[in-house]
Order: sequence, then C-alpha cells, then structure tokens
Amino acid sequence: MCGIFGVFGHPEASNITYLGLHSLQHRGQESTGIVCGNGRQLIASRHMGHVADVYTSEVLAPLKGANAIGHVRYSTAGASHIKNAQPFAVEYAHGTVAIAHNGNLVNALHLRAELERDGSIFQSSMDTEVIVHLMARSGAPTLAERLADALDKVQGAYSLVVLSEGQLIAVRDPMGIRPLVMGRSRGAYVFASESCAFDLIEAELIRDVAPGEMIVVDQGGMHCSRPFHERECRHCVFEYIYFARPDSILDGPGVTDCRERMGRRLAVEHGVDADVVIAVPDSGVTAAIGYSAESGIPFRMGLIRSHYVGRTFIEPRQSIRHFGVKLKLNPARPVIDGKRVVVVDDSIVRGTTSRKIIGMIRAAGAREVHMRISCPPTRSPCFYGIDTPTRRELIASSHTVEEICRYVGADTLGYLSNEGMLQALGSHDGKAAALHGSCGQHGYCDACFSGDYPIPIPEPPASRRGSLVGS
Ligand code: 5GP
Ligand code: SF4
Ligand code: MG
Repeated sequence: MCGIFGVFGHPEASNITYLGLHSLQHRGQESTGIVCGNGRQLIASRHMGHVADVYTSEVLAPLKGANAIGHVRYSTAGASHIKNAQPFAVEYAHGTVAIAHNGNLVNALHLRAELERDGSIFQSSMDTEVIVHLMARSGAPTLAERLADALDKVQGAYSLVVLSEGQLIAVRDPMGIRPLVMGRSRGAYVFASESCAFDLIEAELIRDVAPGEMIVVDQGGMHCSRPFHERECRHCVFEYIYFARPDSILDGPGVTDCRERMGRRLAVEHGVDADVVIAVPDSGVTAAIGYSAESGIPFRMGLIRSHYVGRTFIEPRQSIRHFGVKLKLNPARPVIDGKRVVVVDDSIVRGTTSRKIIGMIRAAGAREVHMRISCPPTRSPCFYGIDTPTRRELIASSHTVEEICRYVGADTLGYLSNEGMLQALGSHDGKAAALHGSCGQHGYCDACFSGDYPIPIPEPPASRRGSLVGS
C-alpha cells in the first residue's frame, strides 16, 4: 500500500513532488521520501512519518533540480524501518538510479534467494530492491532496456517511477493491477498513483499509463513503448471500493461514481424497510449516498468521525467500552434514537470494528440495525500490494453471512454480489467480459472476493527465513 509520484523538467520539482505526495498520503503513512535530480546527480531524502510533518521548507531546500520522484509507504507490521523507506537509490556501473514502487512482487523471495546465492548483498527487506539488482546485472545499453530486462523476470504487481541523472521512466505491470496516471504541469510531465495528486498541483490529467506500458521522459521528450508480452488487464477492484481517494479518476471510471453505483446496486440487491441510512465514515459515505438515492431512505450523518486521532493516546485506567473505536467514531444520538437504521460500510475484514460500531449504534437507541457492505465478502488475502490480514483472520473465509451477521450483532447483513460490483465498475456483461476484455474494456482483479488470482502465488523458497515486504 503505497503511493508514487514523478516529475521531469519542472523548475520546482521537489516542491511539486511534496504536494503530490501530500495528496497521496492516504496510500501510506509510515515513511516518505523524495529523490531529486539536477541532470548531474541525485539527492535523496527519506524519513519516517507523514509528508506534512517531514517536509519542512528546511528539509526541502537542498532538494534542488528539475526532476524528482517520491513515495509514501505503508508496510505490513514489523517491517516499519527507515531502511525500507523509498525511493530506493543506488550507485551502480551506469551511474545513479532511484526507484519508487507501488505493488507487490510475488516471486521476489525466489529471485532474492537466487541473487544471494550468486553473491548479491541486499540493503533492505523490500521486494523492490530485487528489481535494482536485476537491472545492475543486465548487459543492456540503456536504462529503459535494463529496466525491461529486470521486469521480465519479476512476477506481480508494480507501478514504478525510476529516476536517473538524465531520465524519468514510468512503467506499469502488464495486467495494470495498481493504478498510475500521467499528466502535464507547466510543460513538465508528471506521474502519480492517483489523479487527485494532479488536482492539487494544477496539472492536467492526460491519461492512465496503460498496462504493460513504459514511458521514458528525457530532454528529447517523451517516448512510449510496450516491452512486455500482452496480458489481459486486471485492475484492482479494491482501489475503487476502499483504497483510492474518491476524487480520483482511475482507468476510466471516477472512484466516487463507482462507489455510488455500488451503493445503488446494494439497495437493489438488499433493500429493507428503514428510517435512515447512515455511513461508517469516511470509507462508507459515498456508497451510503448511493444506497439512499436508490432506496429513497434519507441519508444522514449518524456517525461522526474525529479527524484528530493521533498514533498514540493515553487510555483511561478504568475501562470505557469500545474506547478505541469511540475515540474515532461517535454516534449522533438524535439521528439514531428509536430508528430503524441502515448502516453502510465499504468492507468487513476481521469484523471486530463492525461489531463495536453496531454496539455503539444500538447503545444510541437504534430499534433495528441493518448492515450493508458495498463489496462481496472478503475471503482471500491480497498478494499484490494491499495489506489484508491472513486468510485465517478474514472473518468471511470461515464464516457464512448469517454467522457474520450474528457476530457483528446486526439484525440483517447484506453484501454486494460479485456481479453487482463488476457492473457498478462499468463492465456491463459481468465477469466474463471483465476478465477477457482488452484494457479499454476494464478487466478487473477481484481475487480477494473470488479467490481467482490472476498471477499465481508461488510457495516461498524453503531455504529462506524472514520475509520480503511489498510496497
Ligand atoms: P472490521 O469490522 O473488519 O474490523 O473493519 C472494517 C473496516 O475496516 C471498514 O470500515 C473498512 O473501511 C476498513 N478497512 C478495510 N480495509 C482496510 C485496510 O486495508 N486498512 C484499514 N485501515 N482499514 C480497512
Ligand atoms: Fe485488489 Fe483484491 Fe486483487 Fe489485491 S486481491 S489486487 S486487493 S482485487
Ligand atoms: Mg472504514
């Protein structure tokens, strides 16, 4: 779960990158980094923490140059360390190169084991570092060819921006699993994980980087190529359900439109007599608006979110029920008291938060609570760069909808169907069309719901202890 940004040929490249990363902060809050280039050398600045806290004007001042890439990172537990902050930068036989990655490589452990057997020494526990080692070993003459050589050997999801002294390269894996968009700002080319980054810097969104496309930008202009075998495209549906910002436009559909359509479909599939539709903010709000519009049941803000919950807080010594959730969310009693409430959220992962939220809604006087989820049951973990827990921890992997309903304490529980979800995304013929369509027709990865993994997940090599973390 990461966000990436790149700019080439802009007088304020680092400042623009800082702003772009700020708009992508929701994609990763653990560490952030900027590497800028002035045509002769690259300067790196990587830190733990949030973009706005890290990048003061003093920290940004030395980052001079017209080219830059940046990264915000969220990693799985245990791997939170500055050595894993990106962009990852190295010196090798061809100069200096920096790389920022969003996604997860499924064969990175195997490749790393092979490279280590051949004598490679790794500096981090990131899958991304494997790409740099493979580039260094490629005998190809240009950066783009070395990168294509390396990517030919990796399997998995990647959207990358790569910066050398004289070039910026943006590339997306052949299935286009993670998003990547291209824009223009004052004559400069810009790239970002999501289009919302362009709005803040007043860049014009040109288009998505196509699945399998490599775009090289240098003093001579921009050059696009398709160096990989063509594959069917499989954009991640979870970007539309939860992860991407609602104001982004990715691979065609606007995220807000998709979420609203999911909410509308949910109302068609799981209608109920009720007095009010409320959302679990922020992630459930757009789908709840769709549910309300379709059902005619008024939408109201029944749960209020505090935006000031920091990382740590001092818990009271005497226990307060649901303290952790209450700190973040609190019911507006007049909206809920005595009402039959539909509560819409985007997903249920472990079920623990949903259970506490429903407990709070009942404590605020709800007569009935009907939970509606704007995606299908999450049954399988993601191996392509979204941090979901193991299969065992996913409540829907081992429980029926009725059992989950009982666990979370709702009167009824309804999930959006897989067909409904794909239709809301705009693949009108449902899954068959979605999976076989060309990229223009939007094929989707829905493996966390269907278990249908578009890229097989290899067993980790037996020899290897420890783990590589995705980006
Ligand atoms: P649960 O009831 O499963 O404990 O929590 C469900 C909530 O988790 C939903 O509100 C959903 O928005 C949120 N959620 C879903 N996926 C993720 C994720 O990857 N990270 C975080 N922080 N929350 C998530
Ligand atoms: Fe997205 Fe789920 Fe596929 Fe992962 S498994 S890429 S979260 S749809
Ligand atoms: Mg949520």
